[in-house]
Amino acid sequence: MSKDLELEDLKKPSPSPSRIPQRTFLKFVLICIFLSTLWISNYIPLPIYHHEYSVCSESGSIYTVDEVTPQVECISIVGSRISYTGSSKELQGRLYRRAQAVSWLQRWLVSRLFSRVSHKISYVNSDAIIVPGLADAHAHIMINGFKMQLELDSCKSLAEVLEQTKAYIYSHPDIYNNKSQWIEGGGWDQTKWPETGFPHAADFDTDPLLRGRPIALHRVDAHASWVSTRVLEIMGDLPTKVKGGSIVRDSSGNPTGIFLDNAMSLIPVPEWTDEQMTTFFDTTMNLALSYGLTSIHDAGSSPKIIQFMKKQAEAGNIPMRLYIMGHVSSDEYWGSQIPRLIDYGKHGHLTIRSVKLVTDGALGSWGAALLEPYSDKPDTSGIMRSTPKTLFNLVKQFWKDGWQVNIHCIGDRANHVVLDIYQELIEMGHNETTTMIANTTGEGELMKANVTEWRPRIEHAQIMTMKDLRRTNELGIIASVQPTHATSDMWYAETRLGPNRIKGAYAYRTLLYGSPKHVIPLGSDFPVESVNPLLGFYAAVSRLSVDGTSPHGDGGWYASEALTRAQALKGMTLDAAYASFTEHELGSLTPGKKADFVILDRNIMQVPFKDILKTKVVATVVDGKVAYGAL
Ligand SMILES: [Zn+2]
Repeated sequence: MSKDLELEDLKKPSPSPSRIPQRTFLKFVLICIFLSTLWISNYIPLPIYHHEYSVCSESGSIYTVDEVTPQVECISIVGSRISYTGSSKELQGRLYRRAQAVSWLQRWLVSRLFSRVSHKISYVNSDAIIVPGLADAHAHIMINGFKMQLELDSCKSLAEVLEQTKAYIYSHPDIYNNKSQWIEGGGWDQTKWPETGFPHAADFDTDPLLRGRPIALHRVDAHASWVSTRVLEIMGDLPTKVKGGSIVRDSSGNPTGIFLDNAMSLIPVPEWTDEQMTTFFDTTMNLALSYGLTSIHDAGSSPKIIQFMKKQAEAGNIPMRLYIMGHVSSDEYWGSQIPRLIDYGKHGHLTIRSVKLVTDGALGSWGAALLEPYSDKPDTSGIMRSTPKTLFNLVKQFWKDGWQVNIHCIGDRANHVVLDIYQELIEMGHNETTTMIANTTGEGELMKANVTEWRPRIEHAQIMTMKDLRRTNELGIIASVQPTHATSDMWYAETRLGPNRIKGAYAYRTLLYGSPKHVIPLGSDFPVESVNPLLGFYAAVSRLSVDGTSPHGDGGWYASEALTRAQALKGMTLDAAYASFTEHELGSLTPGKKADFVILDRNIMQVPFKDILKTKVVATVVDGKVAYGAL
């Protein structure tokens, strides 16, 4: 048999060069690829297999917000995650041991194939510190970009607002030449002006450039809009009453041009185009990164904006983590109008698993719903924008469908009503889900288990009765607060509320100390306040305005409610992560977590209060990659 084969083989023509057996040829090709890779890698940087590096502080000023190792000298990053935190000496030892563990041939091959795996260690300046990536637990991304078109925050009088609006028109030839084009902006605050009360539509008519143009300027808290006479003409007949809002009228019953809360939706402003949305979005993202934010909880996006964000996520255009609360102004259940997305998109940066509901207005426009009338305006107790029954049904259905519910409550009535709703539903949930929960947690933990699962939030939790402050904590409701609101409102809050109610207002330390999970997520509510999270940090720890003053002097306004620096930093990192179900991934510099961190040029944990405000961000790192500045 074998002989036959040999004979057969002899009869075959000898293989020509083009007919080399397949296996030999394959081997040859592989060797060629291997050799050329080695050769090319000397000239072309190959993709980095493991982006690996460490950042160290010789003074040990890396504040981890990890209670096991609160301060370290070095952090190491592999890919998008933190791989090590600890001392510089231990890090050097680890790297040395690792280097010894592999032979020179392995090292040479790996460095050739995967290119630059060498572990770079950079040192921050001696004054600089590193903290976890900062989060804003309550902000408005798109409205901020929108407002930045025409910002009126710095205006100290009505005349200044008019001047700024004119300057905006002069700098936009398309608007200058087209009198029918809408002019929108925001940030005005009549409490900062010498004039008393709200401005008037007729104020725009005092200037020939502004007269006859459709202008809508939103108040700093976005709970009031001031429109021009032209807008009132376009609107025509107005309803006499608006549920959950109001149209301000003069003594003869004519609208003055001020629309409050739900009445604002009557103003026929043009819809945002895709191009505008992209500008608004990018503007806010870039600004936020430059201030060290790596995560934002957006407090209310419409289905249209959510679709826009979804597209941005798919295209990889979201440079930080966004935790979006869906919002639709409707008393009917709208859970089906928004998609549920977790770590969605090219970089996994978009999460939508919560909704925002609104109970009342804001304090600055006397819209916060109070249990008793305003001390400085006894004819009103504020505005309830939803009825307790509507809110109850919405919360119940959202919880049933697995959405986290976050409710805007400023006044003590709003907070009281919402706590009633949460309490009733938690107790109902206790009964309804007994079997399901009992399997995993056992008796006695039932109510707590539900709250931990649902993580209900009250956004602002601004003015509460003493009893409700306690109830918030007993129920385990997350109070999501904005420290700059305390320092912005402190000049008039006590006049509005009187000496007793003020004791339960902006009570951050009370809320934190009683919180069963010891959490108080901090936010800015930008564009109501600045995007810079360090202003919130400063306000939380100092209870002072940026010029170092307060109605109670330089010791701070109701300073007993100030947070410590460590508490404030945790509020802006780990607590915000908890409020968005991500405490195991984000919020502290802990091995295994995402490598989101910020380098600040000075030690905000130690410098005098006033120096906190001078802090500059050296670098903002998201997923281990520099998103702003330089390492
Ligand atoms: Zn808000």
